[in-house]
Formats: sequence, C-alpha cells, structure tokens
Amino acid sequence: MKPVPHKTLTETRYRDWIKPEQIARYLDGGRCFIEASAIEERLKENRECDPGRVEAILQKSLAIETLTPDETACLLNVDDPDLLARMEQTAGEVKKKVYDNRIVTFAPLYVSNLCVNNCEYCGFRRSNKDAQRAKLSLDQIKAETEVLAGTIGHKRLIVVYGEHPETDVHYIADSLQAIASVNVKTKMGSGRIRRCNVNAAPLSIEDLRILKGVGIGTFQVFQETYHRPTYETVHPQDTLKGDYLWRLYAQHRAMEAGCDDVGIGALFGLHDWKFEVMALLHHSIDLEKKFGVGPHTISFPRLEPADNTPFTQNARYAVNDADFRKLVTVIRLSVPYTGMILTAREDADIRRSILPLGCTQTDASSRIGVGAYARQTDSQQGDIQQFLLGDIRSLDTVVRELAEAGWITSFCTAGYRCGRTGDKIMEMLKCGKEGQFCKLNAVVTFREWLDDFATEETKAIGERLIEKEIAEIKDQLPEWYPALVKMYEKVKAGQRDVYF
Ligand code: SAM
Ligand code: SF4
Repeated sequence: MKPVPHKTLTETRYRDWIKPEQIARYLDGGRCFIEASAIEERLKENRECDPGRVEAILQKSLAIETLTPDETACLLNVDDPDLLARMEQTAGEVKKKVYDNRIVTFAPLYVSNLCVNNCEYCGFRRSNKDAQRAKLSLDQIKAETEVLAGTIGHKRLIVVYGEHPETDVHYIADSLQAIASVNVKTKMGSGRIRRCNVNAAPLSIEDLRILKGVGIGTFQVFQETYHRPTYETVHPQDTLKGDYLWRLYAQHRAMEAGCDDVGIGALFGLHDWKFEVMALLHHSIDLEKKFGVGPHTISFPRLEPADNTPFTQNARYAVNDADFRKLVTVIRLSVPYTGMILTAREDADIRRSILPLGCTQTDASSRIGVGAYARQTDSQQGDIQQFLLGDIRSLDTVVRELAEAGWITSFCTAGYRCGRTGDKIMEMLKCGKEGQFCKLNAVVTFREWLDDFATEETKAIGERLIEKEIAEIKDQLPEWYPALVKMYEKVKAGQRDVYF
C-alpha cells in the first residue's frame, strides 16, 4: 500500500468544521449535562451501601428502568464481596431478559489513520512521526471487505476513521457505499456486510444527513473522558478534538440528522473510572430526555499500549481487572436496555470473564492495521496500528467458544433493515417483543454462517446449540415454529439473507 503524505490543517480551517450553534441548541440554560461537582457530590453522598437499598436498585434494573445518578453512585460504591456477587448475577439476568443468550459479533475496519489531532494516548496522533500513514482507496476498501465478508464471514463492521480533510464525510460516505457493494460467493451461497457502523470524529448535522442517506448503522463517538480539565489536557487546545462540547453533543446532532442509533463510550484510564460511569449515565439520560431514546450501545475500552506513545505506559488512572469488572457490571445495571460492546483490546481470559456480566457484542478476527485484512498476516507484526490488541483469535474460534458456553452468535441485522431502529427497537427490546424476532433470526443466521464459514468442529458444536434453540422456540413461541422450520430449510438449501 502506498502511504500518502500527511497534511495538517491550518487554524482557520479547524474552526470552520465546528459549528457553535450546533452545540448551543442542546445546552440547558447555557450548561451542558456534565457537571463535575454534582457527580463528585453524588459519589460522596452515596457511600453507604445498605444491602436493602442495593436490592431495591437491582429490582429496578430488572424492571429495565434506567437508574438515577444516586442509585448508580450507590452501586459504584459497593465493596462487599457478597453484594458485588449479587450485582454481577443481576447484571447477567438483565442482559438475558433483554437480549437472551445472543451475542452479536463484528469486526473493526480501519480505513485510514490520517489524523490532524494529537490525542496523547493514540498511536495515530499527528506528532507520532513513527506512524506510517495510509488511507485506503475504494478498491482497497473493497478488497478488505471481500476478506471480511467472503472468507471470515462477518456481517457487521465498525468502520474506523482518523480526522482529516482527506477522509471527510464524502470519503466516509463513499467508503460505506464501497463496502455495501461487495457481495462474495461463499461455500453454500453468498456473503456481504449487512450493517456498517461508523466510529469517526464528531460531525455536523449536515454531514450526518449525508451518512444517513447512504445507510449508516450506528454512529459511534467516544467522549474519551467526560472530565473536562483532563479532556483539555490530553487533547491539545490547538486541535479540532480539543473542543470538549463539540464532541459531547456529537450524538445529539446525529439524532437530529435522523441517525437514531448512536453509540457512546469512555476510554477508561484517562480519569477516575467511577466518574466516567456516572457521566455515561448522564449522557444516556440527556439523550433519553431530548430524543426519547438513549444510546444504542455503550463502549468501555481500556487504555492499551501504543507504539511510541509514552502516555499509555504509566497512566495514573489505569483501571485494574477488578475495577473493570465492577464498572461493566454497573453500566449494565444502570442503563439496562443498551447494547454493550466488549472489544478485542482485552485478552481472551478477560473477555471470557467479562462477557457474562451483560455484554451483547464483541469483535473477533480483528485486525486494526490499515489494510491488514487483505495482507492476511496472522499476527499484528508489521501493521500500522493505533494500539495493540489483546485477542486476535479467529471468528471461528470465538464462535465455537461462545457456543460451548451456551451463547448463540447472532449474525442477524433484520431489525434495522425493517426500520426497527432508535426508539422503535428500544421499546420493543424493553418489552421483550424484539427478542422474539431476534431468537428466530439468530437461529437462521447462525445456520447460514455455520454452512458457509465454520470448521467441522465448530459446526458440530453449533448444531447442538441450534437444536436446543429450535426446541425452545417450539416450546416458547409455538405460533412461530412452523414459519421457522420453513425458513430454516430454505437457508439449509442455500438461500441467503432471509429474516423475520
Ligand atoms: N478518530 C476518531 C476519534 O478519535 O473519535 C475515531 C477513531 S479512534 C481511532 C477510535 C477510538 O480509539 C478513540 O475514540 C479512542 O477511544 C480509542 N483509542 C485511541 N487510543 C487508544 C489506546 N491507546 N488504547 C485503547 N483505545 C484507544
Ligand atoms: Fe486521531 Fe482519533 Fe487517534 Fe485522536 S484518537 S489521534 S482523533 S485517530
């Protein structure tokens, strides 16, 4: 791949990208929804964790109701091992109630690492002279997609971009269309990417409308840290990303542009983890208040080492494994309806132990080097990447391990394609209606994937799980059973992309 020269923006052009009126319209009386002192106060005032109160809060989560900041602060302060175990058990039950035993898998696709920003923790920051820069052409993007959809068998991607004029919204739109155009012949049928989520810099409402027009999935932006003084230290003020409020309202603008599935997240390790969990809750509440629907997903990446990036070595707020467990549990309990994404930044052991705490999505076969799928290397060596991954096991291995533990990998994207997005899908998820469709679609899409991509070993384990699922459907959803059998037979015969 030919590296392209790395240009930097001028100060005047930076300012054009940020539209102050597209921040001001969402403020309440000139204030944003994050008030650091109020969050710190709630954490201080809810130090007493009476078991009776904790149990009442857990019952509220089980009723799939968003918790209040006081309730969330109380859970964050629990240290008693028995109470913590009860919280973890409830987190798993909440997940089961909304999403049953389904896990969605996806892959990240890094299409460019050109970036005008200088985030201290990121290997792609502009001052990292060691980073070799690359931006994929549309043909190169198609080549990556062919591997992902035709060889590995992914149906969903998160497409990741740096922030740069050469990868502006038009490039993002073109790349989404390039990905959608790829349809590859598989063993028994054909494969293509059916849902394309985007992780990019904050955009204006006008730009987001362009992405809505080409069929974006979830629009995901991580605030990194909600603690403003920390934010302003790690994101230099002479960079675009230095504008805290422009980023804080990225999802509000997306909602206004009609992109109603939005993803939020914090990069854990930049500031106190309890503060960030409280802030993620406030973000969810503000979206619910202003748009009637909260985040489609919450991400909770931990800071990972990156080449030539000293900040990642001794981060003061690095989160240990025990605290990571707790923060995932509390996010699950405080925003019970949301999707939760556990990424391959974490190693396989951590992923095994964290997934049952309420996660709904995870990536597999991941490569985060620009152009790394088409290069088809088995390791991360030689990749130009943003940070180091903890788990690069294949999708086949991950699917098999999940199936052995009783989780069915769902390759279903039907809900979105039938217009069940935003508040519609959230309402259906909360009342369990969407779950019925999901259970049926999980079986047919899993069958499809097993026939097209699985090794014989994975297929055998997967088929045992399918039998169990079909028996449950016969028992729990008898009215749907005949239609399921019909659809299942069609898929076995090679028909693709059918759903309820
Ligand atoms: N450039 C866009 C932005 O910053 O929003 C999107 C792409 S950026 C490559 C995606 C995410 O990677 C960032 O939002 C950040 O949370 C995460 N990230 C950056 N450096 C990281 C590191 N060292 N360890 C773990 N995650 C990191
Ligand atoms: Fe650029 Fe995003 Fe990395 Fe910051 S985190 S340097 S904006 S790619």
